[in-house]
Formats: sequence, structure tokens, C-alpha cells
Amino acid sequence: MSQAAFHFPRGFQWGTATAAHQVEGNNLNNNWAAWENIPGKIEHGQKAGLACDWWGGRWREDLDRAANAGQNTHRLSIEWSRIQPAPDRWDESALDKYMEILRGLKERKMTAMVTLHHFTNPIWIEEKGGWENEATVAAFEKFTRKAVETLKEYVTQWCTVNEPNVYAVEGFVEGVFPPGKHDMSAMLRVMANLVRGHAAAYHAIHSIQPNAQVGIAAQYRSLAPGIAWSPIDQALAKMMSNFFNDSFTRALVSGTLRTPMGSVRIPAAKNTQDFLGLNYYTRDYMTFDLRHANTLFSRRYFRPDAELSKNKFIANEPEGFFEAMKWAYGYKLPIVITENGVEDPDDTFRPTYLAEHIHQVWKAVNNNYPIQGYYHWSLVDNFEWERGWTQRFGLWEVDPESQARRKRPSADFYAEICRENGLSSDMVARYAPKLFSKLFPN
Ligand code: BGC
Repeated sequence: MSQAAFHFPRGFQWGTATAAHQVEGNNLNNNWAAWENIPGKIEHGQKAGLACDWWGGRWREDLDRAANAGQNTHRLSIEWSRIQPAPDRWDESALDKYMEILRGLKERKMTAMVTLHHFTNPIWIEEKGGWENEATVAAFEKFTRKAVETLKEYVTQWCTVNEPNVYAVEGFVEGVFPPGKHDMSAMLRVMANLVRGHAAAYHAIHSIQPNAQVGIAAQYRSLAPGIAWSPIDQALAKMMSNFFNDSFTRALVSGTLRTPMGSVRIPAAKNTQDFLGLNYYTRDYMTFDLRHANTLFSRRYFRPDAELSKNKFIANEPEGFFEAMKWAYGYKLPIVITENGVEDPDDTFRPTYLAEHIHQVWKAVNNNYPIQGYYHWSLVDNFEWERGWTQRFGLWEVDPESQARRKRPSADFYAEICRENGLSSDMVARYAPKLFSKLFPN
């Protein structure tokens, strides 16, 4: 059996990512808490509830797990509604708690990437129209200033907004995130205000912390034509990809948000990324279908022979990840993989997914794409938005009732990757043997 290893550059950042509402618990003052109380919005009527009880202190044991598993960084988000529970009130004790968590990372010799907006808004923001209202931009800037002033000792890498494209599409086209609308013009307003919000935060952070690294976490979804030779399917996939993958990130280069619904000039957003954060999960195929008028006559599906996750939410498409990194390379910025992972309660699929996706990162690094780090989604099982607790993305399993943790084999696999700063044939033979001949052909 051949012996080989795919090594990463010295100093490569290996971590996991989490988000406040998904792990903290008892987050009751934001739009998601309100949404969870509306019957029918979350699968099986589930709620974030106590989540992983990080607010109650279990961040300590989970970050111990991460540190002991060789991770040298962690991406987390801070919850606006805790820090600013009302427009005229800051909760210093919430900021103290975040400070303690960030100090805890430092004590564990881990760096931090902090996200300022990961899908949730304070209820008072939501009541004033959320991101449909341009006034939210100034409010977000104010919150950003407060957070950065307080936490700057522990953080230099900031992610302003997580997946603005997903936030806009799920909340204003698909209607499965709050506020549950189906309104294209509202979606365009939201995207424009998120571009403005990012730009305001970018400039605010740099005025406080000139050496900060500021970016967003963009979800790239590989969108391929269903019938490869069909000009209609090709045009459809291209149009959807231009909109979903490119419109937001291009606006942060050019200062103009261009979408099929219209263009908006936002000069303050020009050149406002120090790195490109890339979230990648899967690829869809798109085909022209007259029965799907509400999605511009496009129907999306997974490759019929692709391996699918437990709830058929993710197809294993590692080549789509390479495509995503190539796309990111086009922005001529340092790249950080801010999320990648799969829902898999039994951990039968995750080891393969992990090995193949890390292998793609290695290929991209060796193509000289400036990739600085990789954050696996996620450290522990957590509240998966409209899918509640039905999807399990954690390296560690969490029982939200008892709060018990149980390590999945992938946690050990990923720990070996982090410690080795690479993926070896020996690891693949032990954790993902069916991949061996693909990754290490004789
Ligand atoms: C989001 C995470 C989420 C993950 C898996 C990403 O779109 O940023 O919050 O948990 O997907 O569903």
C-alpha cells in the first residue's frame, strides 16, 4: 500500500465554526426566537431552546474538545440582541461574557474569527423592518463599533455578515427564514442594505483597528446545467450563479450591486474586503422546466448518482468545492474556508466527505490559491434553523435534552488532520478506506 501525505503550508489555520443562536441557548430576544414560536415554521415544532448551553458555560468543555483535538482557531458569532437588547441599552454583562469566551480561546492557544451578523436580528430591529429598512445600516454600524471597541484585544479577524445571499433568498424568496416573505423587490432592498451594512462595518472596524482583517462569509453553491449540452440549461445555471454567487461579492469590489431585478450603486462598498470567506457545501444541477414559474422556470436537483446526506440536504460534490475556490481566487484576496461540512448523525458519510473536501483544499493550495485556513461546520451538533435538530453537523454529537456529548469518529479523523497539518494515506486507510485508491492511486 502506498504511503503518502498531502501537507499544508506551515501556519495553516484549522478550526471549526459555530454561530451564536445555534449554540448559546436561551437567546430569546431575536427574530429567530420569535419565529420558532410560530407553529409550522420549524420542523417538528423544535426550538433552539438551551441549544448547546454555551451561554450557561458549556463553551468551556466544547472549546477544550476543540483545543485537545489540535484545532488552532475557532469561528464564532456574537449575538446583537444580547449586546444591545434595546435601541438605547447596552448589556455590558453580555460583552463581558464574550470577552471571557475570547480569552478562553486565547488560553487554549486558539485564534478567533468573530462574525457580527449570523442570520439573527434583535426583535427591536425586526419590528422596524429589519434589513428592508435602510435605518438598520446605521444601527448595525453602531453595534459593530461597540463590539469592536470592547473585543479588539482578542480579535483581529472579523466577518461582518454570514451568507448575505442565503439570508436574502431564504427570508425573502423561499420564505423559510424570518420574515418568511416571497417578495423579489424586498429581497433586492435587503441585499442592498446588507451591502451598505457590510461597508459601514468595514470602515468602522478599520477606524478602530487599522490592522484588522475584515470580510464576509459568502456561500458559494456550484450550479451546473442539468443537460450539459443544452444552451437553455447553461444560460439558466449561469444566470442563477451570477445572481446567487457573484452579485454580493462583486458589489464589494465595484461598489455596484447588480442583480436581475435591478442595480444599485453603493460607492462606500468599493474594495471593502481584506479576505474572502468561503462557505461551501454542495452542488445543484439546473434545468429548464415550464412547471416552475416561481423560480424563473428552473428546477434544481442533485446529480442522480451522487452520495447524499441523511436528509438528502447535501450531495457529495467535492469538485464543486474546487470550483468554488477557483472562483474565490478570482477576487485576488486571501481566502479562508469559513464553513464546510455535512449533516450525518451516524458518521458513516462524514469521513469520506471530509477527506475528499480537504483533498480539494490541498489541490487548491498547490495551485497557489492563497487559502489561509479551513473551518469545519461544526464542532458540535447545533440548532439547524428551519430544520431544527433534525440535521446533525457536529464532530461531536449533542443531545439537547441531557446536554450529553459523544465523540464521532470524524472528530478523531479531523484531529489527526489538524495535528499533522495534512491528510495522509494512513489516515484515509483507517477512516475512509473506500477512498484510498481514488486519493492515492498506485
Ligand atoms: C449556515 C450555518 C448552517 C449551515 C448548515 C450555513 O448556511 O451559515 O448557520 O448551520 O449552513 O445548514
